Parts: sequence; structure tokens; C-alpha cells
Amino acid sequence: MRSDMEDTPQQAEFRGEVRQWLRANLPPGWAESIEEGDDKAFEAVKTASGWDFMTWMGTIGRSPYAAPLWPKDYGGLGGESWMPQVVRSELTRYRLPTFGINLLGVGLAGPTIIEHGTDAQKARYLPKILSGEEIWCQLFSEPGAGSDLASLATRAVADGDEWVVNGQKVWTTMAQFAHFGMLLSRSDPDAPKHEGLSYFILDMKSPGVEVRPLKQMTGSSEFNEVFLTDVRVPDANRVGAVGDGWRCARTTLMNERTALAGISFDPVSIFGGTRRDPWQAFVESIPNRSDPLVRQHLAQLYIEAEVKEITAFRANSARMRGRQPGPEGAVNKVFNAEYNQRRSNFAVDAAGMGSTAWLPGDTDAESRSQTFLRARANTIEGGTSEVLRNQMAERILGLPRDMEVGHGEPWSSSHRA
Ligand SMILES: Cc1cc2nc3c(=O)[nH]c(=O)nc-3n(C[C@H](O)[C@H](O)[C@H](O)COP(=O)(O)OP(=O)(O)OC[C@H]3O[C@@H](n4cnc5c(N)ncnc54)[C@H](O)[C@@H]3O)c2cc1C
Repeated sequence: MRSDMEDTPQQAEFRGEVRQWLRANLPPGWAESIEEGDDKAFEAVKTASGWDFMTWMGTIGRSPYAAPLWPKDYGGLGGESWMPQVVRSELTRYRLPTFGINLLGVGLAGPTIIEHGTDAQKARYLPKILSGEEIWCQLFSEPGAGSDLASLATRAVADGDEWVVNGQKVWTTMAQFAHFGMLLSRSDPDAPKHEGLSYFILDMKSPGVEVRPLKQMTGSSEFNEVFLTDVRVPDANRVGAVGDGWRCARTTLMNERTALAGISFDPVSIFGGTRRDPWQAFVESIPNRSDPLVRQHLAQLYIEAEVKEITAFRANSARMRGRQPGPEGAVNKVFNAEYNQRRSNFAVDAAGMGSTAWLPGDTDAESRSQTFLRARANTIEGGTSEVLRNQMAERILGLPRDMEVGHGEPWSSSHRA
């Protein structure tokens, strides 16, 4: 729900609560300058207050507004499905980041632990996920297992009350900063591929964990290779039953789709606090706005942005309640990923030569190029658009299932990449 959609009385009351909390927790003058539309005053307050992203993550993380649908006992509000959207629209209004540094912890690990974890795991991990004190990463993909994740080869062998893990993960976002990882590994190679998996919480500081950052075309190193050599994991860190890792992983993956669907990876959305409403900032960054073709494109992108917002509202309803979101997460993720690419392609086209070279300090040009390059990953990360379309075809349209080679065979005798 956007802040300009009409609230029900209950939503308006909640919006008021969030706004009151923001006013009380933002530096003095921040909220007032925005409410009065005084950009100069806002910039002055922001600079003078020394506002920084990480400190803000801690502040909001200790409030119930970081994950309103999480149960109250674990730092949420046990709230209604529409609440995260209200929080997000208020954060945008006050020029704040709409998601945190611990996106994978709050969006993926937390809901998985809430659904499948023990009481001890919930008490130990959930509060520090919300406060941002412990960052999480997702150790699922491997060089030979991405779309066909269930064919993964990282082995976990039981040894007393521990497991010994060997293998390699790849594409592991944030692993270089993470305290814990959601580790999916093969505990029974003789079971069919989906049945022989177990899910663990891995302490990333364990001996035998080696993280090697990979350089992307954007110049940054968002993700990593992770090598696991004789890593010992206590059985107390197992999430769900032995061999039930695929069910737990599905919870993580469904939440991942919904979590990623609302994100543009535009630095403005990530770090907030720098500009006006992200849509308005985008429009202002486009040159030649009086050109009829440019206007047509902008109008079309605006329509799609509205559709995206309304679809996200529907998909959000199951998220983070501990309930698995359904295939609507896939619809939204595909639409959002392709929308991001269309939008960043258009921005680069509209700026012409200005997209290939710019003067130092031209932050619009830099942001445009970064967003364009980063958007290539949107149709791959969190499940490729092709694979998600297969899921929609099967689960929403009821079409015949995609061919699966070696279905029901032991993983150890199946043909793998
Ligand atoms: C920026 C980024 C961050 C990521 N972060 C993480 C992370 O933190 N943790 C993690 O575990 N993983 C992460 N991933 C990995 C991501 O989940 C995988 O890249 C994705 O699942 C695809 O797997 P793959 O790269 O092995 O491609 P493949 O599975 O090898 O696919 C190659 C191509 O074949 C197509 N294809 C495959 N199977 C089918 C099919 N059945 N029908 C039609 N087409 C098909 C795909 O769509 C794709 O175009 C990240 C990826 C990116 C890009």
C-alpha cells in the first residue's frame, strides 16, 4: 500500500504509531523538515546530525517495526499482513532505507527459524537478527547446483553430536561480513535428491570456513565463494529433522522471492536518506523530459510501478508470519526483476552518451550506471525468471510438470553436472 492509498481506520492508527515512533527516534528537525517540504533544512539536519546507515539499522532493529509480522516474543508485533507495507511507505516518506543490512537474516533466516527452529534456536538467534548485531548469509548454491538446487553435493557426515561438513558454495551474498549462514547440505547420498538433505546454522567463524570474495562488473564484491573443509557443526544447530532440509529450504526460498521482489538495488532505496521519493528522484534524473517519447516511456514505467506495488501488497500477506508465502511470490519476483531491467535500460538510453562517461562527482550518472549493471542480476538471483515461470506454469496454471531427470533415484547414482 502506498501512503497515498486510502487507509482503513485501523491502518491509519498504525501509520500514526509508526510516524510517532519515527519522529521520536530521528534526529531533531528531520521529520519536521520533510513534513514542511524544506529540502535545504533536511540536508542541513542530516549533515549536522551525522546520521549513518549502520546506527539507524540498530535503532530500527530494536523496535518492533523491523519485522512487524514476527511474533511478539521474538521482537515483532505479531501483526497484520498489511503492516510491513505501511512501515515501508513511512520509511520512504521520511527518506529512510526501506530494508536493512541484514536483509537475508530478517527476510530469510528469521522466518525459517520461526517455522522450523527449536525454542532454543529462536531465543538465541532471532533477537540479534533484528537488531542487526548478527548478519546472515545463505549457503545454498554450488558450482553444480543452482536452479536444480536439490542436486547439491556439499556433504554433512554425522560424528557423535556433531556433523563434519565438506564442500563448496558459490554466489554467497554477504558471506564476507556474515556471522552465521543458512547451510543446506547432503546428509544421505543414498536417498533421492530431495530427501537426503539437512539444514544447519553455520557459525561462519568455524575453523575450515574460507570465504573468497568475487568481483562483479559493478566493481563491488557483493557475493563470494565459500569453501568448507572438515567444518564441525554441532547437531544443536540443525534446523528441522535430519533429511528434512528441503522442506526448511523451501521456506527460505519462498521468503527470498517475496523479500527480493520489493527491491530495486538502486542506491537511493538501499541507503535512503539522500533524496526525495525514489520514483521522483528517478524522474528527475532523466534528461529530455519534454520529449514525447521520453514522456510515454515514463508514463508506462509509472503504470508498471503501481501494478508492482499492488501485487507486492498481495504477496506480502503471508511473508514473515512464519507461514510460507505461495506462488504469488514468484509472479511478483519475475515482474519486479524484469521491471528493474526495463527501467534501468530506459534510464541509460535516455542519457545517451552521458551513460558511458561522466565527470567525477556526477552522482546521477554514477547511480544510473550502477543500477543498470546491477539489474542484470535481478533475473538470476533468488531463482531465475525461466525457472520461476516454470513454477507458475505448474502451480498456478496447472500445466504438466517440467521434466525431471532421475526422479526418485538415489542421489548417489543420479547423473549430475
Ligand atoms: C547477485 C546474486 C546473488 C546471489 N546470492 C546468493 C546467495 O546469497 N546464496 C545462494 O545460495 N545463492 C545465491 N545466488 C545464486 C542464485 O540463486 C543462482 O544463481 C540461481 O538459482 C541460478 O543458478 P545458476 O547460477 O547455477 O544457473 P543455472 O541453474 O545453471 O541456470 C543456467 C541457465 O539455465 C536456465 N535453466 C536452468 N534450469 C532450467 C529449467 N528447468 N527450465 C528452463 N530454464 C532453465 C536458467 O534460467 C539460466 O538461464 C545469487 C545469484 C546472484 C546473481
